[in-house]
Amino acid sequence: MQDEIEGVAVRCFDAIVVGAGLAGVCAVYRLRQAGVSVRALEAGGGVGGTWYHNRYPGARCDIESLDYSYSFSDELQQEWKWSERYAGQPEILRYINHVADRFDLRRDIQLNTWVVRARFDEAQERWMLFTDTGEVFSAKYAIMATGVLSVAQVPSMKGLEDYRGEWFHTGDWPEQGVDLAGKWVGVIGTGSSATQLIPIVAEQTEHLYVFQRTANYTMPAQNHPMKPEVEQEWKKHYPDRRKFAWASGFGHNQVTNHMSGKEMSAEARLAELENRWRLGGLYMMRAFKDILTDPEVNEIAAEFVREKIRATVQDRQTAEALCPRDLYIGTKRLCSGTNYYETFNRRNVTLVDVKNRAIERITADGILLEDGSEYEVDALIFATGFDAMTGAMNRINPVGRKGRALREAWAAGPQTYLGLCVAGFPNMFVITGPGSPSVFSNMVTSIEQHIEWTVACIEHMRAHGLSSIEPTVQAQEDWTRHVTEAAGKTLYAQSRNSWFHGANIPGKPVVFMPYVGGVGNYYQTITRVAQSGYEGFRFSSAPAVRNASHAGET
Ligand code: NAP
Repeated sequence: MQDEIEGVAVRCFDAIVVGAGLAGVCAVYRLRQAGVSVRALEAGGGVGGTWYHNRYPGARCDIESLDYSYSFSDELQQEWKWSERYAGQPEILRYINHVADRFDLRRDIQLNTWVVRARFDEAQERWMLFTDTGEVFSAKYAIMATGVLSVAQVPSMKGLEDYRGEWFHTGDWPEQGVDLAGKWVGVIGTGSSATQLIPIVAEQTEHLYVFQRTANYTMPAQNHPMKPEVEQEWKKHYPDRRKFAWASGFGHNQVTNHMSGKEMSAEARLAELENRWRLGGLYMMRAFKDILTDPEVNEIAAEFVREKIRATVQDRQTAEALCPRDLYIGTKRLCSGTNYYETFNRRNVTLVDVKNRAIERITADGILLEDGSEYEVDALIFATGFDAMTGAMNRINPVGRKGRALREAWAAGPQTYLGLCVAGFPNMFVITGPGSPSVFSNMVTSIEQHIEWTVACIEHMRAHGLSSIEPTVQAQEDWTRHVTEAAGKTLYAQSRNSWFHGANIPGKPVVFMPYVGGVGNYYQTITRVAQSGYEGFRFSSAPAVRNASHAGET
């Protein structure tokens, strides 16, 4: 092995984990347990990933805290106390820091270190990773815990460089916070981040303009302080709760109505929808078994939400503008907020439609629309989303076998086997990558499933003297087709204008990226693949074994 590359000493580990968010921290814990030497490289100044960077006012999880947490340590899940039904960003960040401290993980995590490129050394069968700090790392395994919503997307808008005010992106919010008191502020976007931020910011600002291109459906989160009886019940039955989540459709404990919306009477349907509204957040997505497959059933739920909007927002024109049209409910990620629609009854909040009259440019003082109207603002907030699922991987652009770079391999859209591995990129594991349930699930469940699988795979390789693993092209093609077919059975196939399809990034191939076949089914599949001796993968033997084998000693 080379000791130096480009004049820099190479630091060797069994595994490099890229990222120290929820996935990276879990990976460090599990790999260390398995006796694998590991170093996590994290670009941020602290652990936490998404929860480190998304510090915008109102940032909060939309999966219940008791579900959105690690299951790998019973002591941890018994002892940690969540203060609210849905934890806010500061509390989740405290939790991740607590886990890092409690399990003494920090000594294997290097902060402020950005992996800028990576390449597979075919002769050594090791990954070489290069950082912005000028360091070079060598590892047998590259575990890409780079996050699926970690590359903030600021749309290219003419004139932004001339803007005299301050501007921010929700996904890269300043650690010291932002003082918006008494200011005229503009928010661009009405997705999940915006719908959480808007009600809070509206209370601080002199005036808030909300620039909306596509109205989305926002459910009331129905957040509240943690009820002691709920916490006790969960903690008493935690193993069963986790088992249920791992086998469920979405990786959590939300109850699904297994009836078709069409099988139910109009009264029963309405009662179900009212119940889902009361339960809040993403519960609406499970109101009927066919809400995401039958357009008529979907429309019943969509119209129910529109009626709620009309009943909440006093100004009729604003209410109608906030009602999503030509958008199946749930096919753009459902939003979960508190007092979102109520906020438009405030005198200091104005909804500005930028669908029919798009943003022409940013001026020195604010935003100019194509019809010539200008909105002057002291600060601009881009709640404009992320280069999702592939952005962080493509930025590193690992180079695999035969010098082939990932961007080239994924030029027509991401291709993976099981959403975990990529043909031509041996020993690289993409945690919650495209082709896995990922953003279609409770991320913590999906993260733990992937890390468990990856660590077991590494243990298998060690036990059998195997040096590299990668999927066959055939297995990858079959899986990618299966992912597309699964989406094709749903309304997602007809709603291509979302980040699920990559449609929010100019030039990105429009391909549905997550796997919608269900977390439980998916987990069974990856478990079966492992138990079958890793069907669809090919291995190479460790050099010592290969040499021995060549010498006819095996
Ligand atoms: P997003 O869902 O992609 O929303 C981006 C918003 O910006 C959309 O309303 C989009 O409009 C608008 N936009 C983008 N470019 C624009 C332009 N040039 N002009 C006008 N409007 C523009 O991003 P996000 O809200 O940050 O959420 C991303 C994902 O992160 C969520 O879907 C969710 O998975 C996750 N998230 C979760 C939580 C939670 O747990 N509660 C909170 C925040 C985020 P169009 O729709 O017309 O493109």
